[in-house]
Amino acid sequence: MLRLGLLGEKLSHSLSPKIHKFLFDELNIEGNYSLFEIEKNMISNFLKKISKETTGINVTIPYKLEVMNSLDWISKEAKEIGAVNTIYFKENKKYGYNTDYFGFSRLLEQNNIQVKDKEIVILGAGGVARAVIVYLKNKMAKEIIIVARDLNKAKKNLKELLDKKVKVISFEDLEKINEKENKEGEILINCTPLGMYPEVEISPVSEKVSRNYGISIDLIYNPIETKFLKNAKKYNKKFINGMFMLVAQAIAAEEIWLNKKIENGIIEKISKKLNQDTNIILIGMPGCGKTYVGKKLSEKLDREFIDSDDYIEKKEGKKIQDLFLDGEDCFRKIETKAIAEISLKKGKIISTGGGVVKNYKNMEALKKNGIIFFLNRPLEKIVEEIDVNSRPLLFNNKEKIYSIYNERLEKYKKYSDYVVENKTYVEEVIGAIIKIMEN
Ligand code: NAP
Repeated sequence: MLRLGLLGEKLSHSLSPKIHKFLFDELNIEGNYSLFEIEKNMISNFLKKISKETTGINVTIPYKLEVMNSLDWISKEAKEIGAVNTIYFKENKKYGYNTDYFGFSRLLEQNNIQVKDKEIVILGAGGVARAVIVYLKNKMAKEIIIVARDLNKAKKNLKELLDKKVKVISFEDLEKINEKENKEGEILINCTPLGMYPEVEISPVSEKVSRNYGISIDLIYNPIETKFLKNAKKYNKKFINGMFMLVAQAIAAEEIWLNKKIENGIIEKISKKLNQDTNIILIGMPGCGKTYVGKKLSEKLDREFIDSDDYIEKKEGKKIQDLFLDGEDCFRKIETKAIAEISLKKGKIISTGGGVVKNYKNMEALKKNGIIFFLNRPLEKIVEEIDVNSRPLLFNNKEKIYSIYNERLEKYKKYSDYVVENKTYVEEVIGAIIKIMEN
């Protein structure tokens, strides 16, 4: 049995066990990947103990620098970077490596991004930023600007990496530089944890900054679309998350532990599998086709389908119409509770009630692990087709649909990641959603 693991401070949201489990399956290996949440002052003792029981471990926030003191040997690139994220225990010795370098390089290759002669801004100056800086220097980037919240600390920590082409500035300076709309930069890379689940509404820089860069890369992979990336998307810029890099660096670590080459196609395969954890959420007007499209998507993608109204009816033991008898406010409270529960699920297709957008808390919960699609069906088609008798807010009053539409349209647009037109055939709608998810 191959025993591996991850050392860090808070690991409950780590995807590493899943990645390595997928790898074990792919490679037909009997393996075990554990999580070790250890306090800083216990690291040295922990490494001594674990070295006797395991083949190797990965190291994450905030111990990539700390562990170096306890190692017998450190690879060239890890020394250059000054951080270790992979340890191999062999014959009573501890060997340190940095596979973030390899992971980052593969992420750029995968997205056809050249860095030679480019101006690149790196947000953050911690462990992974160092790997990125070393890679960019080796690949002859024109200028590397590191943005740090504590300039003195960053300058001290990065001392040996700084030169004419590599400088450190503050977040305030970056905002100032980008105040002018016509400044067009090149690549912006987030190497801070800002925007990581559950703090998903935070971006390390303002929209103004994102607007000025052609490519935004976030090394965060949970959520797959951070606020930082959403800002880039809003201005039609290229945006890339850290999922591919995460898998690529994990594969590089396995290559060290197993002492064999693992074929490249496996990175893509596993990244795709991990993306499947994200929920696909459908919002839109009553009668816009959410349930129908959701069921068809569920068949096509072989993912479980959840209709939030069905979920509520089952849970409450009452029909939606009957729940409305106690007033809409009462129903909305029940709905918010149900949405909070449904949002915790993974890899589902979720169709929501038309009024879900009335409470921002619902949308925040759904967004945490979901991509939200607004199914936009022309209002005249909805009016023509809808059965008002099963819709409590429209019962005996079809005309009310117009006021509901006016009240909600902006909210559907505001809360959705993508608007998908539902004008023609269901196959087209499904095709559009699948294409977006695949990209
Ligand atoms: P780290 O060594 O702890 O460094 C974090 C950096 O972010 C430090 O420079 C820190 O500044 C800065 N920072 C933290 N909070 C900040 C705030 N509120 N405002 C401004 N700056 C802040 O962590 P790391 O290992 O480099 O990882 C950073 C991120 O990259 C994490 O989100 C991690 O998940 C991700 N990552 C992804 C991959 C991948 O394969 N996709 C690999 C590694 C890391 P101070 O020094 O002032 O604290």
